[in-house]
Amino acid sequence: MAEKRDYYEVLGVAKDASAEDIKHAYKKLAIKYHPDKNPGNKEAEEKFKEAAEAYEVLSDPKKRAQYDQFGHAMPGGAGGPGGFGGGFSNFEDIFSQFGDIFGGGFGGFHSSSRGSRRQGPPRGQDLQIKIALSYKEILSGTTKKVRLKRYAPCTECAGKGGEGVETCPTCKGSGVVRHVTRSFFQMVSESPCTNCGGTGEVIAKPCAHCHGEGRVLEEETISIKIPEGIAEGQYLKLRGEGHCGPRGGASGDLLVVIAEKKDDFYMREGSDLHCTIEIPVYKLALGGTQRIPTLDGGEVSIKISAGTQPGAVFRLKAQGLPELNGGASSRGNLFVEVETQIPTDLTSKEKDLYKQLAELRKDKDTAKDDSLLEKVKGLFS
Ligand SMILES: [Zn+2]
Ligand SMILES: [Zn+2]
Repeated sequence: MAEKRDYYEVLGVAKDASAEDIKHAYKKLAIKYHPDKNPGNKEAEEKFKEAAEAYEVLSDPKKRAQYDQFGHAMPGGAGGPGGFGGGFSNFEDIFSQFGDIFGGGFGGFHSSSRGSRRQGPPRGQDLQIKIALSYKEILSGTTKKVRLKRYAPCTECAGKGGEGVETCPTCKGSGVVRHVTRSFFQMVSESPCTNCGGTGEVIAKPCAHCHGEGRVLEEETISIKIPEGIAEGQYLKLRGEGHCGPRGGASGDLLVVIAEKKDDFYMREGSDLHCTIEIPVYKLALGGTQRIPTLDGGEVSIKISAGTQPGAVFRLKAQGLPELNGGASSRGNLFVEVETQIPTDLTSKEKDLYKQLAELRKDKDTAKDDSLLEKVKGLFS
């Protein structure tokens, strides 16, 4: 699975950023990584596309709401892993979709006077874990207990990092340092202040327990609710369940990547399941009923008509898996493929019966062989 960065992170905006902020952030990135400015720079090209994809989702209130709820895992499972936006294959796509945002050229906007915006303590990092699920767990959804190590606020200093909090002299409390570059056009960029770690504050007497960081690594067990119908490669994003930030900074997210455990009997294809079942040769010849185990632990009997051939497929409606969050009514089908079971443990009496059968069918089977041979030979005469 290609690791996808959080769209908010890509654009460098807060989760509750306004539409205007998102547009502004995207514009800034689009200009920074613009192909005209970075000819032949693959990394810039990827960044440019990544920003465009993030903007495509976050600028659309409906897509943004979906993204906030599911992260990159797309409801309905459509499109498989990756979920949103197939990305953009070329720059023309991006320009044709967002052309308006670039508006009258590139000049001007960078001089927006946001003043010394105070960033506050940085947000904690995201955490990522993998959870393997059986088809049975995917069928009904489940709750998993997971043990993880993550930063939590230091209890000794209540997350403050110590005493004597002062404004950082380097960045004057803004948490960022501005750089002005003059080239083809003037660029103003910002980076986190290294003196205070972007918090805008320095501490006179750091807490001995957390060394002034305001947070400590702790081992915790948490319960994670997994919705039914989820699939390999999709992931859940639990907001604020990642590492907490230093000195009271907001917590990052917990990304739960889903894997599927191999199943001995069933094979998944979307919301359908496939299996093969061996049926005794006499039952295929004479007809009868066959019991099929279902994923929910039950069974279904199917009617085998006389003369059923190996390779025949039976479809059991709604015995597959549900769509993501689709509930029981969205369940796919179970396809059962017939295989012939040839006995290898014949008793002498059974052997005699097979011999009698062979004797009885001798003429028919010989005639069948003859006609096949004639037909094939005929092709060459
Ligand atoms: Zn502390
Ligand atoms: Zn600073």
